[in-house]
Amino acid sequence: MTTVDQTMNDAEFAAASAKAEELSLFFREIGPKYDIENTFAYPSIDAFKKSGLGSLVVPKQYGGQGGNILHCSKVISELSKGDSAITLAYNMHFIMCGIMMGLMSEAQNKHWLGRVSDGEIMFGPFSEARAGFSGLADMKAVPQAGGGWKIYGVKTWGTLSEASTIITTNATVTDADGNIPEGYEERVSAEMLFIADFDVDADGQGDGVRIEKTWNALGMHATGTQMIHFDGFFVPEDGLVCEWRGGAFGVLEWASLNFASIYLGMQYRVFEEVRAVLAKKTLGATFGAIAANETKVSGIGHIVDGVGDMAARVELSRRVVYRTCQELIDGEDDEWPVELRFPYIGLAKTFVAENVMYMTRKSMSLVGGQSFRKGAIFERLYRDSAASMFQPLNSDQSCTYIGEYFLAPEELED
Ligand SMILES: Cc1cc2nc3c(=O)[nH]c(=O)nc-3n(C[C@H](O)[C@H](O)[C@H](O)COP(=O)(O)OP(=O)(O)OC[C@H]3O[C@@H](n4cnc5c(N)ncnc54)[C@H](O)[C@@H]3O)c2cc1C
Repeated sequence: MTTVDQTMNDAEFAAASAKAEELSLFFREIGPKYDIENTFAYPSIDAFKKSGLGSLVVPKQYGGQGGNILHCSKVISELSKGDSAITLAYNMHFIMCGIMMGLMSEAQNKHWLGRVSDGEIMFGPFSEARAGFSGLADMKAVPQAGGGWKIYGVKTWGTLSEASTIITTNATVTDADGNIPEGYEERVSAEMLFIADFDVDADGQGDGVRIEKTWNALGMHATGTQMIHFDGFFVPEDGLVCEWRGGAFGVLEWASLNFASIYLGMQYRVFEEVRAVLAKKTLGATFGAIAANETKVSGIGHIVDGVGDMAARVELSRRVVYRTCQELIDGEDDEWPVELRFPYIGLAKTFVAENVMYMTRKSMSLVGGQSFRKGAIFERLYRDSAASMFQPLNSDQSCTYIGEYFLAPEELED
């Protein structure tokens, strides 16, 4: 592992923020088309590369901008305000840059992050069909006589594969005959993190690797979360990064807080859209709870309260996400029990996830039936927000981690 600098200054961040605002507007413009067409938003690739934001968190010594996790969070939430699905795709790039730079050797950082600084994009398919992200990898890395590994298996959640030329993934190193270790501990320590070239043609076919376009889900259509098949995909020896669980779980804040930032940006957008409709909407003459000749919705009690409640939720989420980033930057997490570090960081994501799902549902009831029609931004946000339940950590697992700690602290110490 190498120490990385995060020395972006205020002027540099202001420039990156301006780029993010511009890119966010572009994502906002093209987002509805790709939601309807249910494909990856291909024009976003050039726009993302042109923005230069891909190197935001890459340390300056590798040609990047040296942004820290708070800079990253602010950029992601700005982009997500424009379009959360497109941003969730590029979020995988930011997540993997953050995770990998803390785990790779100096030579690997120089090579791979140097390529990111030159405009390349990376992605991270880890989850498998059997047990998502927390299941030990069934994907195999079979050692080769001449060195390196051949990878066999399927990753079922490959967001951003269609834009990436660098792949990061995990697989369990087997014996020469392809047998996975039988003991649990042996299996955990045989699971490795790899990085490699991802060189596929326009149809997603590569040497020992291919993209299968299966993505079809309730929401987040433009993420292009495809299946990735590995069938003898060769990874040379210098593509081995470290043990997967022991390594990545120490820097998973890059996943958890970046996902939190996606849904914070979505909260910004829900609030903006709700306000735009409800500040102007007039019902005319009404009969019912309010019987009047002229009813403006901005004067209806539950709507005033509902909008106030949403504004409060946005503000609280903003504080929770950005403050958690700042606490990590300041090293305050050193004071938390080590077992609680990961779930405590994850609380920012679970808090925002609960709030964004509440807000997208509430926005529909406040705006009324027009929000339910296809093409209305509210039905889209409602579908997209449901994805916040799944990315790590989910709220059930966070509570399990925390509950286990408080119910059996001595046993955990053992
Ligand atoms: C839009 C989108 C894009 C995604 N992109 C990617 C990507 O690019 N790369 C990637 O790797 N993944 C990606 N994912 C996958 C995602 O992060 C999860 O891994 C996936 O949803 C499956 O994991 P799960 O925990 O939801 O379900 P499962 O692992 O099937 O879990 C089922 C149930 O068991 C519980 N559970 C699971 N494991 C444990 C455990 N160890 N302890 C206690 N309870 C447990 C879960 O909480 C859940 O209730 C994406 C997901 C979405 C929605």
